[in-house]
Amino acid sequence: MNDIKLALLGSEGAGKSAVLVRFLTKRFIGEYASDTNSLYRKRLSIDGRQLNLEVFDPCSQSRGSRCILEEPVEWADGFVVVYTISDRMSFLNAKNILHQIKESRRETCKGEVDIPICLVGNKQDLCHSRQVSEEEGRCLAIENKCLFQEVSAAENYLEISNLFTKLIRHVMDY
Ligand code: GDP
Repeated sequence: MNDIKLALLGSEGAGKSAVLVRFLTKRFIGEYASDTNSLYRKRLSIDGRQLNLEVFDPCSQSRGSRCILEEPVEWADGFVVVYTISDRMSFLNAKNILHQIKESRRETCKGEVDIPICLVGNKQDLCHSRQVSEEEGRCLAIENKCLFQEVSAAENYLEISNLFTKLIRHVMDY
């Protein structure tokens, strides 16, 4: 049995919990009060392999801050970095988080490393108030050698399930 540890990172309100809850339960939970760090566990079977998935969802107050990032960055095998397509600040924060993950791993591994990360542009259903183009998201992902997907936790399950599956496969091959 493989153990896979993922961490969700991004600005407060980007929809991290909504994306995760959608993946775990197939449901959209509109208001999700989380004022503590949460660790979710799920057993999965991917490509015939049994997995124990653990996902760390840090609490709102601490999200994005440098000191709190250190803990999940050391702990996790892979990362889901979430921003909101209708909030440019959250995109800039995601950019900063990607940089911090790379820097921290570079120090630990003493060199350039290809870390399993998926950059997620959430709230695709709010495209009428879009502030970040899909192209910008894709370019940021290419620069950081990570997977990329725009999703709507409010409307889609399949895209979210597919992105977690792709990321887990990447971790397994890593
Ligand atoms: P977190 O702080 O990053 O964990 O964000 P939450 O998951 O708590 O979501 C913040 C707010 O955005 C909540 O009011 C959610 O209902 C809302 N939300 C999350 N995902 C979506 C989405 O895909 N579309 C829309 N319209 N709202 C969303």
